[in-house]
Amino acid sequence: MKPRRLLWQLYFPYVLVTLACLSVVTWHASSSLRRFHGEQASADLSVRAQLIREQVAPRLSQNRMDSIPALCHDLALLAHARVTVILSDGRVIGDSDEDPLKMENHAARPEFIDAIRAGEGVSQRYSHTLQSDMLYHALALPATGEPRAVVRAAIPLITIEEGLSHIYANVLLTALGAAIFAAVMSLFISRRITHPLEEIKRGAERFARGDFGTQLRIPNSIEIGALAEALNQMAVQLEDRIRTVVRQRNELEAVFSSMVEGVLAVDKERRLIGLNRAAARLLGVDYEDALGRKVEEVITHEDLTRVLTHSLSSEDTVEGDVRLGHPEERFLQAHGTVLRDARGITIGAMMVLEDVTRLRRLEQIRRDFVANVSHELRTPITSIKGFVETLLDGEVHDPESTQRFLQIIAKQSDRLNAIITDLLALSKIERDEEQETLDLETIHLRDVLELAVQTCEGAASEKEISIQLECDREMELRANPLLLEQAVVNLVDNAIKYSDPGKKIRVVACANGGWRQIRVEDQGCGIAREHLPRLFERFYRVDKARSRSLGGTGLGLAIVKHIAQAHQGRVSVESALGLGSVFTLHLPNR
Ligand code: ADP
Repeated sequence: MKPRRLLWQLYFPYVLVTLACLSVVTWHASSSLRRFHGEQASADLSVRAQLIREQVAPRLSQNRMDSIPALCHDLALLAHARVTVILSDGRVIGDSDEDPLKMENHAARPEFIDAIRAGEGVSQRYSHTLQSDMLYHALALPATGEPRAVVRAAIPLITIEEGLSHIYANVLLTALGAAIFAAVMSLFISRRITHPLEEIKRGAERFARGDFGTQLRIPNSIEIGALAEALNQMAVQLEDRIRTVVRQRNELEAVFSSMVEGVLAVDKERRLIGLNRAAARLLGVDYEDALGRKVEEVITHEDLTRVLTHSLSSEDTVEGDVRLGHPEERFLQAHGTVLRDARGITIGAMMVLEDVTRLRRLEQIRRDFVANVSHELRTPITSIKGFVETLLDGEVHDPESTQRFLQIIAKQSDRLNAIITDLLALSKIERDEEQETLDLETIHLRDVLELAVQTCEGAASEKEISIQLECDREMELRANPLLLEQAVVNLVDNAIKYSDPGKKIRVVACANGGWRQIRVEDQGCGIAREHLPRLFERFYRVDKARSRSLGGTGLGLAIVKHIAQAHQGRVSVESALGLGSVFTLHLPNR
């Protein structure tokens, strides 16, 4: 059944009950009135008949029959009734409305028969004489003893009906007025009942929309008031719970989005139901766009979708290594587990993606480094071994060759020593850098730079290269003096090695905000642009043969880089082939 408004559910029954009651009361009142009015009219006619009998009696006893018709007329005018006098044999001797001679014998009239028999007769019937319904009241004359005649008074029924219709009209009008009043009052009362309920309904709708700002007004009715109070309480609890849920969700989202690992979750239909920013970034997908879509539409990498598919059907954690080609090369480690709800029913799967690119690259660097070290060491060792074996074989007899071989062995041993010294220095600096255990002190920069220049002075003068130092005496820096000196020595040493004789080298120190810059400028061979990005890698050399012949280990610039990093600084290079190079140490003055 179609639901209807409570207002009309209350209003229409009210009106119907009121109308039914009114109808019953009106009907009962009308019928009582009709009965009462009929009895009144009958009693009234009886009184009039008695009065007429009193007037007719003396005329009849004196046998003055001729005067009776006129008397009937007079009495009829006075009594407002038809007056008839009938002899006991039924002959009419007087009638107010008709000529008695023309009237038939009335012996058969029921009121006449009753009056002769019992002294009084009443009847309601159609009058053939007057051709209308009449109420008759007949009395025997004389009242006691043998009746000589019957006196009859009659009134048309229509006059009684007219009186009644008038009363009926009044009753109906009053009933109609009462019905209209009842209808209006019913509407008013129904509204009074339903209005607070509608207010509560509007309030509940507000609560449903999440608007808990306005509390419900408590109506002046115990039941509806209790309902409003219960709803207000519910709203307070609901708001509290929603706030808790939102806070927990925000916390969870914050944890999710700040996670370095990528996390994504799918439902049983393999639709993405959760994805954090790290996952979106790792997979190169749009975070907003991906949610709700099938995992195959978002992740095109088969290995990843395979881990998810396995996770959905597996009890254990599923693992997989994935190499992503784009947007950039990345190595991911994926862990997939099935997701269950509180009852233990599978609702989907989730996958955690760990970016192990850096780890893999470090492993690669370590592998390369081991290969490089082995290679660097093998050359001098092979050389030493070869010459030593030749000498041991005793086939070299002339002292000159022996001397030359021994010099080569000594040179290669120096080379081995240089490589190992540099490697040890590098590893120590790296350890200090990692553990941040570098000993720092406030130094006068110029002192350190002077020491470095002095160390290189010998090699420079051999090639007639002049070194010019420009540094303010007062310039201070918090640094490890020995390491800083070593870095500058390495740079100046390189500048000497890769410059032609007679060239100039400048060592310049300057302050730039909270930073100190130490520049080593040369006019040497310069470095081609393509070598610059890798120049500071271990064992990287532009020209291997030249470097070796100059006694280079290929570790000098790597040491400089790590010394700069151990001081929270960096090293940069600018160079142009044939024009020279500028190496700059940028160190913070902490
Ligand atoms: P090496 O022991 O070979 O000098 P480094 O790590 O000090 O190793 O330098 C790496 C390479 O960078 C060198 O082999 C050389 O090719 C290049 N290089 C370094 N400094 C200079 C410079 N001042 N001018 C030109 N090339 C340089």
